[in-house]
Amino acid sequence: MLTIGCHLSSAEGFLHMGEEALSIGANTFAFFTRNPRGGRAKAIDPVDAQALRSLLEENHFGRLVAHAPYTLNPCSGKANVREFASLCMREDMERMEHLPGNYYNFHPGSHVGQGTERGIEMITQLLNDIITPEQSTIILLETMAGKGSEIGGRFEELKAIIDGVRHAQKLGICMDTCHVSDGGYDIISDLDGVLEEFDEVIGLEKLHALHINDSKNPPGSRKDRHAKIGEGTIGTDAIAAFINHPKLKGLPCILETPNELDGYAREIRRLRDLCQG
Ligand code: FE
Ligand code: FE
Ligand code: ZN
Repeated sequence: MLTIGCHLSSAEGFLHMGEEALSIGANTFAFFTRNPRGGRAKAIDPVDAQALRSLLEENHFGRLVAHAPYTLNPCSGKANVREFASLCMREDMERMEHLPGNYYNFHPGSHVGQGTERGIEMITQLLNDIITPEQSTIILLETMAGKGSEIGGRFEELKAIIDGVRHAQKLGICMDTCHVSDGGYDIISDLDGVLEEFDEVIGLEKLHALHINDSKNPPGSRKDRHAKIGEGTIGTDAIAAFINHPKLKGLPCILETPNELDGYAREIRRLRDLCQG
């Protein structure tokens, strides 16, 4: 069975997200660990977290894919912005242990001037500061569209980050269909080739989760604007081929399309229909 869900709001607590996921036919989901555009985090209620854990187990959910806030930039030129990113992520790692064994996805960041190589060093350093060998969370680097000075638009950049991290077994990749297409990887007519390239550069065993989005922009545009499934330049056929690819089967799929809950329910139903086995 396809492991699929969408982004859910954590405003009403953990258990509520689980119930909401069930109500739309999801068996995984994503949520922001804190305000996506701010950084403040609500205290976690351990009873609420335990209630969600029971719900996930009883309903055979796949792993969840939490998302770090967008404001986090581990390779900013400003020391205080990097410190904030480090603080946030260290705290998020502690918070994630309330829901052990899940994924935590983040955008590698934008280097704003100092160059890709230095940016990669900064990201690596931050990860080395916060990752402990005991943590049960796997941190995922998201493949990016490469807009502006964004790092992570090329597989080689993500590989360089992984190579610099001491406890690399705690690190993996989340592939976003909109981002890789906007980034110039041809998942529409050459998915096999893209996955081969990923395997050669990074290794498919590092690929742990998928963001399933259509794109408002043409392939290679380096833009990053998500469209509803079937309403963008990637299209339903290519998305269907993606979720059915034998090398990607079983990975949690997260929708980040511009939808409300009812729209997500429809897309989940549609993708389940398109899923062979
Ligand atoms: Fe993201
Ligand atoms: Fe994404
Ligand atoms: Zn995006």
